[in-house]
Amino acid sequence: MVKVLLKNGNLIDGLSDEIKENFNVVIEGDKIIEVTKEVPKDLDKYEVHDCSGKYILPGLIDCHVHLVWDGSANPQAVINYEPDESIILDAYAHAMETLKLGITTVRDLGAPRGTVLNLRNKINANKLPGPTIICSGPPVVMTGGHVHYLGYESDGDSEVRKNTRRVLKEGADLVKVMATGGIYTEGEEPGSVQLNLDELSAAKEEALKKNKKVAAHADGIEGIMNCLEVGIDTIEHGIYADRNALEIMKNQGTFLVPTMKVMRQLTSSPDIPEWALKKAEAVVKPHFEMLKQAVEIGVKIATGTDCGGPMTPPKYYYDEILIMKDAGMNSMEVIKASTSVAADCIDRDDLGAIVNGKKADLLVIDSNPLENLEVLKGEKLIFKNGLIV
Ligand SMILES: [Zn+2]
Repeated sequence: MVKVLLKNGNLIDGLSDEIKENFNVVIEGDKIIEVTKEVPKDLDKYEVHDCSGKYILPGLIDCHVHLVWDGSANPQAVINYEPDESIILDAYAHAMETLKLGITTVRDLGAPRGTVLNLRNKINANKLPGPTIICSGPPVVMTGGHVHYLGYESDGDSEVRKNTRRVLKEGADLVKVMATGGIYTEGEEPGSVQLNLDELSAAKEEALKKNKKVAAHADGIEGIMNCLEVGIDTIEHGIYADRNALEIMKNQGTFLVPTMKVMRQLTSSPDIPEWALKKAEAVVKPHFEMLKQAVEIGVKIATGTDCGGPMTPPKYYYDEILIMKDAGMNSMEVIKASTSVAADCIDRDDLGAIVNGKKADLLVIDSNPLENLEVLKGEKLIFKNGLIV
């Protein structure tokens, strides 16, 4: 097997606070096997990519996507009457679109039946090219609750327990629960509680038995507090988290995946259903204020877009990170949130950093993203599992 050498590049390794200048990265198979100042001897034994003056960073991770949705104004309407075979093909197309942007791993937090679970099996087994997929499969949701059409409707702690066991049996990498209402389901409010404390507790207990994490859609403060009480691992959106909640998150090590861009996108088009548009307009400002406070308090923040959701195709990843910067994170913190912190959030210690033994998911770009994060949007060389995309 020919080794690949990324020669003489500036490393942003996902962990250090500083750029490491003039480093060499050696890839063998799908792994990084060496990160060194020394240029290896016998260069003819390597496929060499001269990275002089360029920047090498870990492949980016999106901690919150919906691969089955197409990012149009009302994406659920597009797949409502589609057979699963067709939904899976759509999801595959969206996965490839995501990978080509330099996003080498996604965590999918809600897809109907076995659609994304099956897609994950093929891609993660290298039978199809695509981004690494971590997925929850169908969310556990109260009857008629937030995006119930994607999930398993469950009422009372015994049904939640049953359906949590069921998704784990079906192969979910983690469990997604809906702790509050949200924007993109008609007739509910983001502030209202959905699965209650006992139900969330049952989900968490069952996930723990299988050593899996629980991610909660949680917009309103009461639902967020319920999540924190039972030890939910990642709070998705977190719109109305107050100082007290954010301090508890900081102390418990709970991740926040804020998904800022999608809320703005939900106000961006006259084609968004009226009921969603009104709710979205009300949350944009408190959501941003929440994120600013979370940054100030030092909550662990991981990048996630909710892409696939209304008016939010995968390319908005690069807008998401600019909003995170606006909220007070510095550029290096934003890159960590998108690499090593994200890897931690999705429970994959083989990803998100340029270190010996990690997966060779890497980006090579021409200019310094710490000076301008927008350069991440541009042309880049993408390695996924050691292969050029
Ligand atoms: Zn979502």
